[in-house]
Amino acid sequence: MRKQIVAGNWKMNLDYNEGVSLFSEIVNMVKDERKGDQIAIICSPFIHLNSLAKLGGNDVKIGAQNISDKESGAYTGETSAKMIKSVGAEYVILGHSERRQYFAESDALLAEKTKVALANGLTPIFCIGETLDERNNGSYYEVLKKQLVEGIFSLSDSDFAKIVIAYEPVWAIGTGLTASPEQAQDIHAFIRSEVEANYGFNIADDTTILYGGSCNPGNAASLFSQKDIDGGLIGGASLKSRDFTDIIRALN
Ligand code: PGA
Repeated sequence: MRKQIVAGNWKMNLDYNEGVSLFSEIVNMVKDERKGDQIAIICSPFIHLNSLAKLGGNDVKIGAQNISDKESGAYTGETSAKMIKSVGAEYVILGHSERRQYFAESDALLAEKTKVALANGLTPIFCIGETLDERNNGSYYEVLKKQLVEGIFSLSDSDFAKIVIAYEPVWAIGTGLTASPEQAQDIHAFIRSEVEANYGFNIADDTTILYGGSCNPGNAASLFSQKDIDGGLIGGASLKSRDFTDIIRALN
């Protein structure tokens, strides 16, 4: 069954006390808004995860924003999937454009991180997206396909079925520019058709595909009403409890 998900990406914002306080507000508000099987997730910096997991209960799940591609050992400064899992996190964002761009994360590295996440029982929220240049020069289908093929299409059927995909056009992230519902739907349908070509109809139909990039309470409902858009990955608006909750309410 395809799941409806709204995941917040706090990025490198909020000190420990600010994070706990915002998260407590979010849990209280989401409790009354989340319907049935809808899933709310906050992906926080590592430092918050342990405390947030204890506060979130069943209402708000917890995710990290990165993991090491190594299982354990002499990798100073790294944090492993097993560590994340052991404090109660269930998800991890992988392939975010900021990690691809500022930390030179390649498709090959992301494929490794995805495998390590799955092997440790974390659900990857795997991000793909094109830059403004790639959108303008028409190469975006090719770019997105390469990110899918090299990042996640070598997974087995049973592993792939656990993945959440997020389409985040780089030109829409943090810019206030949003893909129109039609533009986003066009890409989501393309992603689902690529998944179908590799994994068959049933897995494709069950894959949750989120939209991310300046999603806010004003545009969420029109994006989420598109047939291949199953929720959102929310940056800026997840730093405000009211906005984040309003976006959850916009799930249809
Ligand atoms: P934004 O970020 O909602 O602030 O555009 C989305 C993201 O980077 O995941």
